[in-house]
Amino acid sequence: MSEYRHILVAVDLTEESVQVTQRACALRTAFSAELSCVHVIEPLSLAYGGDIPMDLSTIQDQIQDTAKSHLAEFAKSLAIAPENQHLIFGRPETEIHALAKEIGADLIVVGSHGRAGLALLLGSTANGVLHGATCDVLAVRVGI
Ligand code: AMP
Repeated sequence: MSEYRHILVAVDLTEESVQVTQRACALRTAFSAELSCVHVIEPLSLAYGGDIPMDLSTIQDQIQDTAKSHLAEFAKSLAIAPENQHLIFGRPETEIHALAKEIGADLIVVGSHGRAGLALLLGSTANGVLHGATCDVLAVRVGI
């Protein structure tokens, strides 16, 4: 098996992120790899467009501040260096793909609410990251 040298873990900053990052940390140790993490903030304007007739910039700033401190706290507990912590605005799948290329990640780790059955259904973000990725993607089963 080839070695992974740079692992990128995508976190939505929910409790489930802990399970996802624990797996990423185990792989970091196993391969003596570099570990980076990313959280993507979806701009409210993207989610709601012109549907809400009010200025959303203050709320957006608050969301950014909260995400920034949660990500820093989270990354610190995992000994991820500040330069390997990424907070980006945009669509999660698109930004995760772009960042993976930019930093030369050879493995992306995401969480998945996959359910086994007649079909294997991945969560929407995990599915989006898997499709179009130019490196390996590990979907860590979370929650159920
Ligand atoms: P979902 O498909 O929304 O259930 O999310 C599955 C996984 O995608 C999460 O466990 C994370 O690994 C990743 N993910 C979802 N949203 C984000 C986000 N905003 N930023 C970074 N990663 C995310």
